[in-house]
Parts: sequence; structure tokens; C-alpha cells
Amino acid sequence: MAFDSSYLQQDEASRLKTILEGTGAGTWEWNVQTGETIFNGRWAEIIGYSLEELQPTSIETWMAFAHPDDLAVSDQRLNAHFRGDTEYYECEARMRHRDGHWVWVRDYGRLVSRTPEGEPEWISGTHIEISSSKHYEQKLELIKAEQQQTIEHFEKMSSLLPGVIFQFEVRPDGTMSFPYASAGIERVYGVTPEQAKADGSIVFNAIHPEDRKYVDQMINLSRESGENWICEYRVVNEGVTNWVLGRSKPEFKPDGTVLWHGANLDITSQKALEEQLRQSSTTDDLTGTANRRRFTEVLGWEFQRLKRNGAGYAVVLIDFDWFKKVNDRYGHHVGDLVLKETANRIKNELRSGDTLGRIGGEEFAVLMPQSDEASARQLAERLRQSVEELEFVGFTELRGTITCGVAISDKADEKPSQILVRADQAMYRGKAQGRNQVVVFDQTLSDPG
Ligand code: GH3
Ligand code: MG
Ligand code: MG
Repeated sequence: MAFDSSYLQQDEASRLKTILEGTGAGTWEWNVQTGETIFNGRWAEIIGYSLEELQPTSIETWMAFAHPDDLAVSDQRLNAHFRGDTEYYECEARMRHRDGHWVWVRDYGRLVSRTPEGEPEWISGTHIEISSSKHYEQKLELIKAEQQQTIEHFEKMSSLLPGVIFQFEVRPDGTMSFPYASAGIERVYGVTPEQAKADGSIVFNAIHPEDRKYVDQMINLSRESGENWICEYRVVNEGVTNWVLGRSKPEFKPDGTVLWHGANLDITSQKALEEQLRQSSTTDDLTGTANRRRFTEVLGWEFQRLKRNGAGYAVVLIDFDWFKKVNDRYGHHVGDLVLKETANRIKNELRSGDTLGRIGGEEFAVLMPQSDEASARQLAERLRQSVEELEFVGFTELRGTITCGVAISDKADEKPSQILVRADQAMYRGKAQGRNQVVVFDQTLSDPG
């Protein structure tokens, strides 16, 4: 850049003036003792006047246009500077524009001379308009206040939510964090929002060990597919296991970070209810064994398996002997008790894969997967003996016996229930032969006549 050499020949004062004009700054000089002032054109322009229009100027000119509240602050600052407390005079103030609105100005000045007595004399400074930045500053503060309010509302709302609202991120280096988590995170995971922010992995430590892998898999799936992360899992907090439903939406950042926005809901009570419903739809209330529906279902599965070349299975049908007499003699209530305790005794004799079902009033059936006739007969005999020996608390003279019919699966069967018919036929043979015994089905039983 080439300079006009005549520029350098100007005296320093006029060069300074040129620089100041370039900055768009108003200038002012004020004799504190006499009230005399010198303003430049820009000073007047900021409030919509030409300098000529303001003439004659004095300190009164400033005082006439400045906002009274800001004048008070300005006075304080000036006095502090005159006393030598501050190196500069600095002040932001509003001035009335010719159009009637307020403009914000920032003054910056310094005492340049004192009287022989040491009183402040000349002070000079600059004067720039900051309305637009002041405007943005005020806007920003307003937004901040609104944001604060929104956050407070949000926090209040989320505290009503049985769960946690969160942002969760996984960075390219694999580290993770919860940049935001509502206070509920402590209730659910036993971790404070601050801890979760510092290190996201500690939140995962609270996930039930058996569900951890599943949760990780679902997160990876969400990251790879861009689909929402939806997951039900258990969380262990202070020894208590709770069910949590998680939902969140991934956002992919340019740096490779994935940020999920979502919520966790505590669904423990719903889960308990679900489990209760599931139980009551499959279990017999009195004895806790499978109900007829459930037994039929499991039998159906075994039947399908057999059809697909699975292993054979066996069924032991159990009917109480003379049960009407138990009821007649001791009452229905005691009869119930006998059913319950006998069912418990039978359960104890079974393998974990066996299914015990109550298929009628005082009729039970055991489904034994992967079993042949010999092992089924053996089990039935063991059950018969066990029940015969069973004593009922408070009823020493009360003894019950059972008659068992045993049948094994047949690939020729067209329906799963056919095995029950065979077991029933065997059982009735047992009743006819005097009860308290085990009869295994054979073809002669189904022959007519
Ligand atoms: P049998 O040796 O021929 O089997 O004689 P039984 O008296 O056991 O005769 P049956 O099996 O035909 O009758 C079953 C009786 O069991 C009928 C009913 O009074 C009783 N019973 C059925 N369900 C219940 C129940 O849930 N509670 C009680 N207490 N009694 C039941
Ligand atoms: Mg019966
Ligand atoms: Mg009976």
C-alpha cells in the first residue's frame, strides 16, 4: 500500500484526527472548570444532528441528550477518574436521538490537564455508537432468560416422569458421555447427571449383566441403520432390579460422533402386571401347576417336534381315587388342600423339562419329553408311592391314593390329544382293576369289546 507522502507531512494532531474519523468515533473535549466543550461532527451525527445544529455546545449539550439514569453513573465514573482511582473514564450511556429513540454510546476518555491548583481541567475522549451490539446483548440476555425458564419448566416436567430424559453420545474414539441427563438418572441408574456427563460408561455398569449385551447390540444396530434405539432391559440399582424401556433417536455429527436424544421410562410395574397376566393365563391358581390350556399348548409343541423327527415323549395321567369321599368327609376346602399338597409332592419328583398340568378337577397329567414307556412307567410308579405315603398336616388319618395311566407318543397320531385318550383308557383300566396302581396303555385297551 502506497502512502501519499504529504500525509506524513501533516502534524501529528491532524493525523490522529484522520485515524479517529476512520473509526467512526465521535470525539469530545471538555474543560471541567469552564464547561467549554469541543465535539466533532460524528458526535452530533450519532444523535441525528449536524454539529452546526447543536452550536453553541457546552457540557449542557451532553447533559440534555443523555439519559438521566446513565448521567448518574457517568458522574460517578468521572469523579473516580478525577480522584485518580481509575486510569480511564469509561461509560456506556443512552442518548436521545433526534427521532426520539435512544441510542447507546460508549465513552472512553482521559484527563489531559489539571489547573495549577491540581483541579481537573481538560478531559478528552471518544464516543462510539454501540446500539446494535447493545441490542444483541439485550436480545441474548432475553433469550438466555427464556431458555433458563424453558429448562426449568422442562426439568419440572421431567421430574414427574418415572425415568430419565437424556442425550447420549459415542465419540469416534469409542468414549461415551451423557451431555445432558435429567435428575431422574440418579433414581434409575444411581448415577448423578454430572457423573454421567464425565463418563457415560458408568451408567452402563448398572444394566443387568444378562441384558448388557442386548443393549449394546441395539445401540450398534441404531448406529448402523440410523433407526431409533428401542430397548427393554433391567437395571440393578442398590440391589433392586427394575425394568426400563429406552427409546432414542440418533443424530450423526460430521466428526463421527453419534448423539442420541431420548428417554428411559421405568416400566417395572407394567412388567410385573404383564408377568402376572401371563402367569394367570397359563397357571392353575389352586395348585400353581400349568393349567389345561398351557398343558395342551406344550403337548402341541412336542407333537410338532415329533412330526419333524423329534424324540418320542410320554404322558402320565393321574386321577385321585375316591376323591368324592374326601370332599364328603372333610369338606371341599380340605379337598382343595389335598389337591394342592399332592401337586407339590408330584412336582418335586419331576425333571425340569417335564410339565405338570391340572387338566381336570382332580385330574393331573405329566408330559415327559424324550421319554419312553419304561421311564414313564417308572416315574408313574414313583408318583403313586409318593402320594400314598403323603401325610396331611392335622389330618393324620387322611390318606389319598392315585391311579395312573401311561401312554407314549405315536408318529401315526393325527392330533396331539390322541395320547391323552390312550392314557385315559389305561387309567380307567387301573380304576377297574382296583385303583392305586399304574397301567400302561396297550392296544388291547382300545380294541372294541
Ligand atoms: P374315582 O376313584 O373313581 O376317581 O372316584 P372319585 O371320587 O375321585 O371320582 P371322580 O374322579 O369321577 O370325581 C372327582 C371328584 O373330585 C368330583 C368332585 O367332587 C371332586 N373335585 C373335582 N374338582 C375338585 C376341586 O377342585 N376341589 C375339590 N375339593 N374337589 C374337587
Ligand atoms: Mg376324576
Ligand atoms: Mg377320581
